[in-house]
Amino acid sequence: MQYIDPHIHMVSRTTDDYQRMAQAGCVAVTEPAFWAGFDRSSPQGFYDYFRQLTEFEPRRAASYGIRHFTWLCINPKEADDPAFAREVIELIPSFLDRPNVLGIGEIGLNKNTKNELIILEEQIALASKYNQLILVHTPHLEDKLKGTRLIMDAIKRNGNIDPGRVLIDHVEEHTVQEVLDRGYWAGMTLYPDSKCTPQRAADIIEMYGSERIWINSAGDWGHSDPLAVPKARLEMTRRGHNRATIEKISFENPRTFLSQCDKFRI
Ligand SMILES: [Zn+2]
Repeated sequence: MQYIDPHIHMVSRTTDDYQRMAQAGCVAVTEPAFWAGFDRSSPQGFYDYFRQLTEFEPRRAASYGIRHFTWLCINPKEADDPAFAREVIELIPSFLDRPNVLGIGEIGLNKNTKNELIILEEQIALASKYNQLILVHTPHLEDKLKGTRLIMDAIKRNGNIDPGRVLIDHVEEHTVQEVLDRGYWAGMTLYPDSKCTPQRAADIIEMYGSERIWINSAGDWGHSDPLAVPKARLEMTRRGHNRATIEKISFENPRTFLSQCDKFRI
C-alpha cells in the first residue's frame, strides 16, 4: 500500500529514514519550512535553508524513489521580530516557481503574540497574492484552541482565501470539528508517546469520519517517528477498518488536497 507523508522535516532525518520509509510504501513527502532548533542569525540563513529545501532535499529523496515537495515561510517561532521576519518574507517570491514548492507553510502561531499574528497576516496575504496553498501550524497544549481560532479568523479576514485550499495541522479532539465545520482541511500529527498518538488518531477518525482529514508524522530533529503514518495504518487495520478508509486518510486525501497545486502529480 502506498502512502504520502504530507508533513515531515526530512532535512533533520537520515538516509536510513528515507530507506525505511520507502520500504514501508512512502511515495511522496511534503516538507514545511520550520524552526531549526535554534534561531537563525540572519535572513541569509533562511535563503540557504530554502535552497536546501528546493535543490538538495528533492535530489536526496529521489535516490530512494520518494518525491519531495516543500512549503516556504518564516515559522511562527522566529516570527516575533517583525523587521527580521519581513526580510525573510521578501526572499520567498523568488522561490515560488521552483518545481517542488507547493505553497506557504507552516505558518501559524506559537505563543499567540501580537507580533506573531501580524506576521501571520502578512504571510496569508503573500499566499493570497501568489495564489498559493497554505499549510498551518497550530500551537500546542493550552494555547491550541485559542490559537486555532485566531488563525482561522485571520484567514477569514483576508477575504481572498478559499478554506478548501488551507490545511490546518496538529488538530486534536477539541479542535478538529471546528476546523472541518469552517471548511478547512485537517491534519493529525502523530507523535510516538505524547499529543496525538496513532491510537488517538484512529479514535478521531472513528468519531469525526475520514473526509478532508489526513495523518502525518511531522518527524523532525526531536523525538519523533518517521514511520508514524504506516504505524497508524496498522493500528486502523488492527481495529478492523477497511482498506478504503485507511488509503483515504494516508494517500487519497493528501493527494486530493495537494493536487490543487499543479506541480503535485503522483
Ligand atoms: Zn512541522
